[in-house]
Amino acid sequence: MSPEDLNPFTIAQRQADAAARYLPAIEPGLIEYLKRPDRMITVEFPISTASGEVLNFVGYRCMHSRARGPGKGGIRYHPDVTPDEVRALASWMTWKCAVVDVPFGGAKGGVVCDPKQLQEEDLLHITRRYVAELNDNIGPFTDIPAPDVNTNARIMAVIYDTYDALHAGQNNLGVVTGKPVRVGGSLGRNEATSRGGLYVTERALERGVLEGTDGLEGLTVAIQGFGNAGGIAATLFHEAGAKIVGVSDSRGGIRCADGLDPAKAHAHKKKTGSVVGLEGCEDVSGDELLETECDILIPAALETQLREDNAERVKARMVLELANGPSTPGSDAVMKERGIPVIPDILANAGGVTVSYFEWVQNNKNEQWDEDEVNARLKKIMRRAVDGVLDRQAEVNGSLDELTAEREERGLDGGPLEPIDLRTAAFVVAVERVANVTLDRGIWP
Ligand code: NAD
Repeated sequence: MSPEDLNPFTIAQRQADAAARYLPAIEPGLIEYLKRPDRMITVEFPISTASGEVLNFVGYRCMHSRARGPGKGGIRYHPDVTPDEVRALASWMTWKCAVVDVPFGGAKGGVVCDPKQLQEEDLLHITRRYVAELNDNIGPFTDIPAPDVNTNARIMAVIYDTYDALHAGQNNLGVVTGKPVRVGGSLGRNEATSRGGLYVTERALERGVLEGTDGLEGLTVAIQGFGNAGGIAATLFHEAGAKIVGVSDSRGGIRCADGLDPAKAHAHKKKTGSVVGLEGCEDVSGDELLETECDILIPAALETQLREDNAERVKARMVLELANGPSTPGSDAVMKERGIPVIPDILANAGGVTVSYFEWVQNNKNEQWDEDEVNARLKKIMRRAVDGVLDRQAEVNGSLDELTAEREERGLDGGPLEPIDLRTAAFVVAVERVANVTLDRGIWP
């Protein structure tokens, strides 16, 4: 068997193609356009480090689509950032904003660097120079960054400050989201990705996604990644009555069948730099963590963690993708075969961009909403999005013969259509929304 193609952009395009099969009325050329980014910018720049060296960096910013609103998407600092990873992440942003019906397009950025080898001051210099190089290619109404892996509220404050210095005399707060609250950030943004994932899970369970279970109370949860998405999810799922039976970070994992206290894991990570070694837990490898016996597995780290070669060993009853792109098409096929529902990233982790949208609205209106108001609005949007995806899945799966006949009538290739999983259902919703807006606006000249 040939090894699975793990290029994230190829995977993202395949996911859109899979959905397009269930949208026979959309012109194939339009699907082709929607799968490709509008533009990709590469910047190369030096910084002078705290120790007096001059180091060089490459950064990217990809605008996938502005059809439904300004480009929106995080900035990642990681040694493995590649142009195709940035393209994939930008396209997932387009589909995600469409699934939750937030009026943004999709974008993403990244700088190839290893934050573990750099001082905080160096990271702030990288940020300023990267933003200065991008200059007018980002903006409050064109392309709006946010945090992603290894970037945080402090870095967002510096992005705002740099852009503001270059564009004095106007309200620039909306150029970036995920800012500290005292620099125009929104209450609730820090927890929004995980809180959104919690609301999605609760609604999906109410709707019967996991047979015989209608709530989180007493369910066991294992989480890969212990940063903004995974670490906060551990706390919120624990507070909601679930038992956290395992967590991991880049150094390894820990397991505790009786359930661990996330507050202790956070304190241990703060002290030692990792969750590994937490008292009362068994140390395991990162791979073993993914194979933990549990009800819900939450990948919340990086792409392509669940693949054709390890999906069979997953013992969870359900997967909630807080990371972007954690599953490959090979893993999806295995999960579908095994009847394990996978709540896809473009739905599961859309809470982050939803509250980023709230932050942007507050910035543009010079308002500050209460945290309760932010969370109530988030809950409404996430529950509605879950219902939209589940209803669409049922609708498509109930009309496979009609859709197959329509494809044949239009001369489109491929045999009978198969029932769709939740990822394809979410993509059907998203691709249709972006396609319709593109057609409403018109393809010009
Ligand atoms: P982060 O930098 O705060 O945390 C990343 C975590 O993953 C760290 O604990 C790190 O140690 C861990 N990690 C890295 N490699 C690992 C590995 N091989 N095995 C186990 N753990 C590993 O980043 P984040 O913001 O939490 O982002 C995590 C994922 O969530 C990414 O896919 C990101 O795109 C996605 N996401 C984040 C947000 C957000 O608002 N921050 C929103 C939507 C999606």
